[in-house]
Amino acid sequence: PRDPGLAEDQTELAVEGALRPTSLGEFVGQQKVRGQLQLLLDAARIQQRPADHILLSGPPGLGKTTLAMIVAHESERPLRMSSGPAIQHAGDLAALLSSLTPGEVLFIDEIHRMARSAEEMLYLAMEDFRIDIMVGKGAGATSIPLDLAPFTLVGATTRSGMLPNPLRDRFGFTAHLEYYEPEELELVIGRSAAVLDIQLPAYARAEIARRSRGTPRIANRLLRRVRDYVIVHGERDGALPRATTADVNAALDLYDVDAIGLDRLDRAVLDALIRRFRGGPVGLNTLAVTVGEEADTIESVVEPYLVRIGYMGRTPRGRVATPEAYAHLGVPRAEEALR
Ligand code: ADP
Repeated sequence: PRDPGLAEDQTELAVEGALRPTSLGEFVGQQKVRGQLQLLLDAARIQQRPADHILLSGPPGLGKTTLAMIVAHESERPLRMSSGPAIQHAGDLAALLSSLTPGEVLFIDEIHRMARSAEEMLYLAMEDFRIDIMVGKGAGATSIPLDLAPFTLVGATTRSGMLPNPLRDRFGFTAHLEYYEPEELELVIGRSAAVLDIQLPAYARAEIARRSRGTPRIANRLLRRVRDYVIVHGERDGALPRATTADVNAALDLYDVDAIGLDRLDRAVLDALIRRFRGGPVGLNTLAVTVGEEADTIESVVEPYLVRIGYMGRTPRGRVATPEAYAHLGVPRAEEALR
């Protein structure tokens, strides 16, 4: 039977694919990282060898997968995609590595979630393009060395702190992606609007950018919701649907994105922190249980942005809400302190 939910997801994924830049030149922002990657790729091209291994860290939706695709595209090499959770045993990794063609780019998303046993195999593979395959069990077990085709590993992680040092040390290049400035998001949105055939005046672009949590994926997602809204309710200016600020506001309010881009989960976390725990400090796990979300999601998705905009602080004793967070939720602080 058809699963409408899944079909919708796949359409969304296909659109996300269509919106991905394919060259470093089209990739917006992250100027420093772009320059560093360009040099890395140029050097590899001149020497006709695979580029050094690359580690990209940062919150979801900032362009790690896109950069991995660009690395493959710009170096004209095939790309193989996998992820940490899909590598549960060393054998999974051995199968993957031994099937790579010379120079292939291997992308491992969420590399911090790979099995420990695979991690150790990866050290040797990254360093010497070789793995040792264990054959047999117990006293009769032997290891057979297997040479691999040289490859470029691009690892992505939302939690670089969770990566063991020996693994991190084996990347020739590591970069941390930062949240985007609103002006950069406006560029992303303008580009996507052209792809999606929707007219977006500058003020509409700015409004979506302001509400996108510094994240291109969210900017693109909100743009698609605005497009839906305009297709249904908007005025037509010639052939292309055209979004007004009122359309943008109406569409985004419908999807529970507030004036500064916080979504329901962001606000639930702040709300728990302020009303339930009187501003903290409160431990991550307690906070996660209170809002019914996994601690990992809170730590890698919610918290980095709230910290970045100065709404949440991290202390050794736990998370605390700042005066700005109180103001945003409209909770008076003095009253809180008296209770
Ligand atoms: P991550 O792997 O970090 O979660 P992705 O690479 O999947 O993020 O990016 C999510 C979406 O955001 C993609 O559709 C991509 O088109 C868009 N995107 C991300 N970074 C940029 C950028 N710098 N310029 C333009 N679009 C971007």
